[in-house]
Amino acid sequence: MNFINQCENCILDNTVEDISFNEKGVCNYCEGYHDRKSKHSYSKADLKTLVQRVKKPDQKYDCIVGISGGLDSSYLLHKAKQLGLNPLAVHCDSGWNSETASHNIEILTKKLNVDLYTYVVDWEEFKSLQKAYLKAGVIDLEFPTDHVYLAALFFAADKYNIKTIFTGNNLWSEGIMPDCWIHNKGDSLNMTDIYKKQSKLKVLRHLPVLGLKRKFYYYNICRIKNIFLLNYLNYDRSAALKELQDVYNWQQHVTKHGETIYTRFYHRYILPKRFNIDIRKAHLSSLICCGQITKDEALNQLSQEIYPTEVMEADKKYILKKLDITEAEFGSMMNMKRVSHTAYRSETRLKIIYNRLRTLPLGFNYLLNISNHC
Ligand SMILES: [Zn+2]
Repeated sequence: MNFINQCENCILDNTVEDISFNEKGVCNYCEGYHDRKSKHSYSKADLKTLVQRVKKPDQKYDCIVGISGGLDSSYLLHKAKQLGLNPLAVHCDSGWNSETASHNIEILTKKLNVDLYTYVVDWEEFKSLQKAYLKAGVIDLEFPTDHVYLAALFFAADKYNIKTIFTGNNLWSEGIMPDCWIHNKGDSLNMTDIYKKQSKLKVLRHLPVLGLKRKFYYYNICRIKNIFLLNYLNYDRSAALKELQDVYNWQQHVTKHGETIYTRFYHRYILPKRFNIDIRKAHLSSLICCGQITKDEALNQLSQEIYPTEVMEADKKYILKKLDITEAEFGSMMNMKRVSHTAYRSETRLKIIYNRLRTLPLGFNYLLNISNHC
C-alpha cells in the first residue's frame, strides 16, 4: 500500500526511507531534534563566556566567520560584530555564486568594515569533482561544496593563526535532516575514492581536503574549533531577514540555499526528480520544531511552487554548459540507479572504531578528536 503517513508534529512522512513513529505518531527526527536541542541549549551567560574566550585583543582577528551570502551566515557575521568580536570573513568561491550572494557579501563586509578573504577553488578540479559525483550515482551531490567550503575555512584559520571558526550551521533552521538524504560531510575518504573511480584525473591535487592527517593537525596541533554560534542565539529566520534587509539592503534569494546556483538546482530539481525528495520538508520541519512556524504554515509553503520554471530552465542550461555535460548525458545520470556512498571507501567504519576508543579512559578523546564542533 502506498499511503502517506505523516508525523503528527512535523511534515516529514514515510517518503523518508528511515523514518519511524512513536506511539503518539511523532517521528524519530522530531525526537532526535528535541534531544539535540536540549544538549545545545545555551544561556546568556554561556554566550558571554564564549565571547570572552574567543576575543583576542592583541591579535588582528578574533575569529573567522564563514560567509556564503545566504541568510544564516550573513546574520552570523552581523551578530559576531554586534557581540564585539573582530572577525575575518572568509568566503569559499566554488564558481557557482549567484549575483545576490556576491551582492550580499560585498555590502555586508563593507558596511561592517570587516576584512574579507576569498578562497577561490581550482575550478577545473572542482568541476571534475562535481561531475565525478554525478557519475557516481550517490545522493549527496552537495558533498564537494560543503566539504571544500569547510576545508577552506580551516585553511584560512591556519594561515592567519586564528583559533575559532564560526559557521552558520544551526539547529533552528537546519536541525532536521534525514540521515538517508545526506552523507557525513567530514568523510574525505569517500570523496577521494569517488574522485579516483569516477574521474580521469584520479587524484585531487589542488582542492582543500580535510583528510585524517589534516584534521588531526587542525584539531589537535593548531587547536582550531568550529563553533555553531547561531545555536547560542535566539535565531529567528524571519526576524533576521527583516533586520538584514533594513540595515544592509540585504537581498533575499529565490530559494533557501539559493546563494549558489548549483545548490539550488540540486535541491529543487535533482533531489525531487531523481530521488523523490523534497528537501523543503526537512527545512520547514526544523522551523516547526523550534516553534518559528506552525504545521499549517509549513504545509502552505510546501504547496507552493518548488522552483520557478524560468529560473529552473536558466539554471539547468547554465549548469550543463559550465560542467560540459550534454542534455543526453545529464538525462542518463538522472536515470541511474541510486548507489550508496558506502559502495565507495568511507571513514564511517573508522569513526565507529574511534568512537569506541573514545570510551576508554586513556586520553584517546584528545588524540582522536576527528570531529570537533560544538
Ligand atoms: Zn516529525
